[in-house]
Amino acid sequence: MELKVVDSSGVREKIRDHPCFSKDAHHHYARMHVAVAPACNIQCHYCNRKYDCANESRPGVVSELLTPEQAVKKTLAVAAEIPQLTVLGIAGPGDPLANPERTFATFAALTEKAPDIRLCVSTNGLMLPQHVDELCRHNIDHVTITINCVDADIGAQIYPWIFWQHRRIRGAKAAAILIEQQLMGLEMLAERGVLVKINSVLIPGVNDLHLAEVSRIVKQKGAFLHNIMPLIAEPEHGTFFGLMGQRAPSAKELHAVQQSCANDMEIMSHCRQCRADAIGMLGQDRHDEFTLERIE
Ligand code: SF4
Ligand code: SF4
Repeated sequence: MELKVVDSSGVREKIRDHPCFSKDAHHHYARMHVAVAPACNIQCHYCNRKYDCANESRPGVVSELLTPEQAVKKTLAVAAEIPQLTVLGIAGPGDPLANPERTFATFAALTEKAPDIRLCVSTNGLMLPQHVDELCRHNIDHVTITINCVDADIGAQIYPWIFWQHRRIRGAKAAAILIEQQLMGLEMLAERGVLVKINSVLIPGVNDLHLAEVSRIVKQKGAFLHNIMPLIAEPEHGTFFGLMGQRAPSAKELHAVQQSCANDMEIMSHCRQCRADAIGMLGQDRHDEFTLERIE
């Protein structure tokens, strides 16, 4: 589906060269992710911590962890070789806002050394409200939040625990806190004019019938785009869902859910579930051309 953009607040300018927020842009512009954020503050049943965050990335992939300094060097090296590079995102391998020092040190250095590159972040949202002001200070005008449900009982089937205020919290209580934080963060960003994309992982039998409601609520709170991604739960990745025999949705099921959400929200249909260290145009990954050995 083509995005219907009403340009009342510079939206068209903000998405013009962002390959994920604009379907048209993905034919012309490139993005890269730097994997500077190792820790995570929640557990998703579809995640195996040996691999990248599965909320914005392809499960079963292990990205090369970088220090902020290495990430900056790498970004400058890529920008010198790929002129279409317009976006630098942090999406893992854990949660960027569970690693705020590393994430914001990277953004601060890039704002200074590569001011023309747009900065972008993808988060599970647990610590989002606490960091909205800092994100805006770094001129980040694209944020992705993974919201798989707006109902704590459904959330309890997706998230076994969260780490919140120095304690591990489990079950529906944990999911309720996570959902509240995600929606509050979304509203705060939207109020400040930041474009927010929502990722939802489609889990058959768990949230498939619920995602239309998620779409309705996140649109109401100011989200710009909804990206419904199919669960990839392979037993060999060791995810709890995979080991339980939880199946992935078929292409037909994915399409049907995307259609059920399209009434309320613009739907992203060109996501490639990239690695946390992806480089290049969407669907074309050049991360192995820019190894640390080569750039250092
Ligand atoms: Fe894994 Fe990402 Fe979920 Fe954290 S937020 S548990 S890294 S999928
Ligand atoms: Fe864009 Fe999807 Fe890749 Fe993220 S995972 S960079 S939204 S295509």
